[in-house]
Amino acid sequence: MTYPNEAELLAKVPGQLFIGGEWVDGADEPFAVNDPSTGTALKHIANANPEQGIQALDAAVAAQEDFARMAPRERGEILRRAFDILQERRDEMALIMTLEMGKPLAEAQGEVTYGGEFLRWFSEEAVRVHGRYGTQPEGTGRMIVSKHPVGPAFLITPWNFPLAMATRKIAPAIAAGCTSVVKPASLTPLTTLYFVKILEEAGLPKGVVNVITTRSTAAVSSPIIADPRLRKISFTGSTGVGQGLMKEATKNVLRTSMELGGNAPFVVFEDADLDKAVEGVIAAKFRNIGQACTAANRILVHTDVADEFARRVTEKVSSFKIGRGTEEGVVIGPLVEDKAVDKVASLVDSAVAAGAELLHGGKRVEGDGSFYEPTVLNRTPSSSEIFREEIFGPVLSITTFADEEEAIRLANDTEYGLVSYVFTEDLKRGQRLIDRIETGMMGLNIGVLSNAAAPFGGVKMSGIGREGGFEGIEEYLYTKYTLTPNP
Ligand code: NAD
Repeated sequence: MTYPNEAELLAKVPGQLFIGGEWVDGADEPFAVNDPSTGTALKHIANANPEQGIQALDAAVAAQEDFARMAPRERGEILRRAFDILQERRDEMALIMTLEMGKPLAEAQGEVTYGGEFLRWFSEEAVRVHGRYGTQPEGTGRMIVSKHPVGPAFLITPWNFPLAMATRKIAPAIAAGCTSVVKPASLTPLTTLYFVKILEEAGLPKGVVNVITTRSTAAVSSPIIADPRLRKISFTGSTGVGQGLMKEATKNVLRTSMELGGNAPFVVFEDADLDKAVEGVIAAKFRNIGQACTAANRILVHTDVADEFARRVTEKVSSFKIGRGTEEGVVIGPLVEDKAVDKVASLVDSAVAAGAELLHGGKRVEGDGSFYEPTVLNRTPSSSEIFREEIFGPVLSITTFADEEEAIRLANDTEYGLVSYVFTEDLKRGQRLIDRIETGMMGLNIGVLSNAAAPFGGVKMSGIGREGGFEGIEEYLYTKYTLTPNP
């Protein structure tokens, strides 16, 4: 891989708002996007005010009718061209993500692949939107059920997967024929801005996707949500913010999709293949430096194998290289900002005070940047705060259980239900766990399961709706029933 010069690449990333197909300056003072590995500014970008938020919605509303009429094949082809251009620019895109978010380059490349697949998948789904036709049971009329684009959508994305979280929303919206206003996280807006340039090159009509970057998040977002022309909100982020947005969305009874927090159990039974389970947990825990909604948060291990599992995991973790994501061989990049390091440190300290055994790590890394050591805790009590809270950092915390009933009770002992991981070689046990764990997704003997062709989403306080798969486009369609009498 040949990565471009950082300064030259950053100069190519647009630093403006994208409204109605034009790049425009923000009305407020530009804000800095920082490199979390050094704390220094990478670039200053446009800071929209509330009027500009509404201008972005105006553009989406103006483009909606024509876009809904564009042939599905044509919409699909725009996505397919965007997919191809993204492949050509994959090194640039990966480097932008590493610079603004901190993940190691190899993982950023993985996100280009994963994020890009939503473009390809929905380029194919655009032409497969089906309704149905049937005779009324009474035999007196014909029933037509058709699908239509919901209308202008507001898409709000988090910082942890800046490309994939954007493509997972923008691609199905385009495929379905919805226009949108996109608001990326202010910590990592560069990826979205660079991606939208790709959509522009792929031939997306003006106004179909509009991007606003801002530091006045609530002040800019609330008027958009309150505007009766908006029809849908799709949000990925924390549960607390999602709950607030759902309240705002009640005013106009918006269609809502909410991809919220997680607290994934990772259950290892005594009959598991421990090598596979160790490999699985390393991927499920340390990918993205632990900053994933799908991160294994509570590692539940049968008491008979817990110490051996902890020993093998610690051996691997102790070899992890810490550093800037651009350095060769780095596994643990910085956390996204200093506040995140403080939160992780406080969770680890309170777990140790509650009786967890610290097997590795357990400290922030002194010096520049927002680094925390990869950490392993064993025998963490299920009453501790770290068991309840989404850790969002490189901390692997093991809690033991005695039997299957206790494993299920502990796995379900959370208000979240996004993803669960189960490792067992017993097929019947695996099937019982599929039935009994309250979760939107499950990895059975595997630690990474996200795929553009599969429905991603949670139950309980992890959210509403699904992204990806056949289900993903449905979030941007409404169903219309028409009855017509027999001739
Ligand atoms: P966050 O909730 O702080 O922010 C998410 C987005 O919402 C950002 O763009 C932010 O600017 C915006 N936002 C914040 N307040 C807002 C308001 N009042 N009005 C409108 N927009 C507002 O979350 P984060 O820290 O960026 O991301 C981490 C969280 O996201 C974690 O809880 C993680 O589990 C969750 N997440 C969930 C999924 C999923 O698919 N379920 C995927 C990735 C991340």
